[in-house]
Amino acid sequence: MSLVQERRPTRQISIGKVKIGSKSPVSVQSMTNTQTQDVAATVRQILSLEKAGCEIIRVAVPDMEAALAIKKIKEQITIPLIADIHFDFRLALASAKAGADALRINPGNIGEAKKIRAVVACAKDHDIPIRIGVNAGSLEKEIEQRLGTTAEAMVESALRNIQILEDLDFYNIKVSLKASDVSRTVTAYRLLAPKTTVPFHVGVTEAGGLYAGITKSAIGIGMLLAEGLGDTLRVSLTRDPVEEIRTGYEILRALGIRSRGPELISCPTCGRCKIDLFKIAEEIEKALLEQSSQIKVAIMGCVVNGPGEAKEADIGIAGGDGMGILFKKGKVIRKIDQDKLVDQLLDEIDNMTKNSEEVNGKKE
Ligand code: SF4
Repeated sequence: MSLVQERRPTRQISIGKVKIGSKSPVSVQSMTNTQTQDVAATVRQILSLEKAGCEIIRVAVPDMEAALAIKKIKEQITIPLIADIHFDFRLALASAKAGADALRINPGNIGEAKKIRAVVACAKDHDIPIRIGVNAGSLEKEIEQRLGTTAEAMVESALRNIQILEDLDFYNIKVSLKASDVSRTVTAYRLLAPKTTVPFHVGVTEAGGLYAGITKSAIGIGMLLAEGLGDTLRVSLTRDPVEEIRTGYEILRALGIRSRGPELISCPTCGRCKIDLFKIAEEIEKALLEQSSQIKVAIMGCVVNGPGEAKEADIGIAGGDGMGILFKKGKVIRKIDQDKLVDQLLDEIDNMTKNSEEVNGKKE
């Protein structure tokens, strides 16, 4: 039985070529942490994110130079780009003109209605969506005074802003409700879900460093996805954004929603392990990072239990004393010297992937 409930029905929007809504796969996005004005560095980071499987990229637009840089950045990347705007609505107008595929605004800090109207008119002209990015840390003052920084306050802010846009006859919207803790984030999306058909961008904001960030994101985003509440996701980590993409796909994979790249399984090791499995696992993980094939690879500590415990893996290695074995679907294929284990496993994986690409005619 699937762990994941049916997706909440939403309207469908498009950010460039990527469709977002309940009829489309949950997409994985990230945000650059370069200075957007530094076109070369930003493009370099986006290209490495594209390689990792990032489907939509967001860039900060803190000033006019950043807005203008979007044009040059767009010429060198293939995934759609979202311009992230705070405070100055003129930056939204300039970003759209420079070719942004969507705008993210936090209406709470854009200000007067006439400025929001100008942004909406511009998004209509360019036929691009707007994400209403509600953040518990920057709610409209009046809402915060009345309701505090609660999930209810976030929902009220989202509904108010959806209404403002829809009153202007603009429905090309997605919404996010982010707080830095799982409880408020999940509660806010749950409360908003029955009240609108706007697609949800899900994530836990300012989630923290690697361990806290991955844990909070996996639980928060994971709970929402399991309840069918999430149409596109961003994991926030205080790290290289490539790690956000990897974490996003691992969350989707763990729930059985989507997968990308080989699945690695490895044992925690115990007293039976006589090889440096941590190092081997790290080398293999690194080597497989940019592979898009969907094979299951096992890295096990001992020949006694390894192949049996990892029977469902397509291919794997298990360590012995000074050597290891290569196995496929639990069956031992051959013995290998310890220092050649990694290379030979990677060669075998390469051959298997090439063969399956030939059979399927293409990559993922
Ligand atoms: S595969 Fe072998 S080394 Fe790894 S945990 Fe199991 S028994 Fe221990």
